[in-house]
Amino acid sequence: SDKKIITIVGSGLIGRSWAMVFASGGYTVKIYDNQPGQAAKAITEIRKQLGELEEAHMLRGELNTAQQLALLSSHEDLAQALEGAFFIQECVFEELEAKRSVFQSIEGLVGKDVILSSSTSCLLPSNVFSRVQNRSRCIISHPVNPPYYVKLVELVPHPETEATVMDITYALMTQVGQVPVRLKKEIDGFALNRVQYAIIAESWRLVQDGVISVKDIDLVMSEGLGMRYAFIGPMETMHLNAPEGLEDYLKRYREGMKRVLTGFGPVPDFSGEAAKSITEEMSELIPSNQQHLSARRERRDQLLMGLAKLKQQH
Ligand code: NAD
Repeated sequence: SDKKIITIVGSGLIGRSWAMVFASGGYTVKIYDNQPGQAAKAITEIRKQLGELEEAHMLRGELNTAQQLALLSSHEDLAQALEGAFFIQECVFEELEAKRSVFQSIEGLVGKDVILSSSTSCLLPSNVFSRVQNRSRCIISHPVNPPYYVKLVELVPHPETEATVMDITYALMTQVGQVPVRLKKEIDGFALNRVQYAIIAESWRLVQDGVISVKDIDLVMSEGLGMRYAFIGPMETMHLNAPEGLEDYLKRYREGMKRVLTGFGPVPDFSGEAAKSITEEMSELIPSNQQHLSARRERRDQLLMGLAKLKQQH
């Protein structure tokens, strides 16, 4: 039925990932890009990736590679790409004007119940959807790269988004194997980037203040906090770290946490002398050239694949 068609608008890195995720869940996926040839190129790239995933036994969903590929089509015409879709996932450049105008065009071509979803990492729903007339069906579904292994999707409502739109999107994401979380209202940075920036800021201050090296602060995360954060979050961490649970944890550590947090420095400006010296220290560990960066990215993705496998078993 027409309930099964999803259209992807913008077929770069994230558009292609969404297409793979939705096809793995059995949806028909129509891919559109305004750059001629780009949507077709995306399918070629997806075919290659699905082959590699099958070989690594990491292909998601019940369907085999050929069945998943058969669900994908590329389109050079926006109206044709949108026909029959119940859900549109926008993945164009991270530019407010590009997103505003693309949603304006989309709204002119689809029925009023079609859900308009944006992949934006940093823009707020109030801004992105400002030129849409019926904003009750608008939502942000913010993925984390690479979505095939890192399954979190932040769902961020516009102030006018209807609860059912949030519910349908939540159900869709769950059904295709992603892990959605609901933000109850819009906020700059959403949840993930706010937490990430807090970690980056304190790590930066510790290095800048001469407390620890670049290499060692990264080890604090990768060999310390990160080991459990792949499985439990900060709230459960507190709950498990005191004999009687969270309330007990607060009794024991409340004052200490407040004392340490009160001593935190101001927001770094991430420029000037500190930036120069931190950048240099990083480049000594991993030279800033394509060869070294690609190798480290490949290692990261391999390890993420292994971690995704491990998490599947538990
Ligand atoms: P990208 O540059 O790889 O791809 C963007 C694609 O959109 C290109 O193929 C381009 O031709 C196409 N495009 C541009 N304007 C268009 C238009 N008007 N109509 C149709 N297609 C158009 O970018 P990306 O990394 O895939 O990012 C896409 C979105 O996803 C951005 O909003 C970004 O913030 C978000 N996002 C990215 C990441 C990431 O790690 N890359 C993670 C989460 C969210």
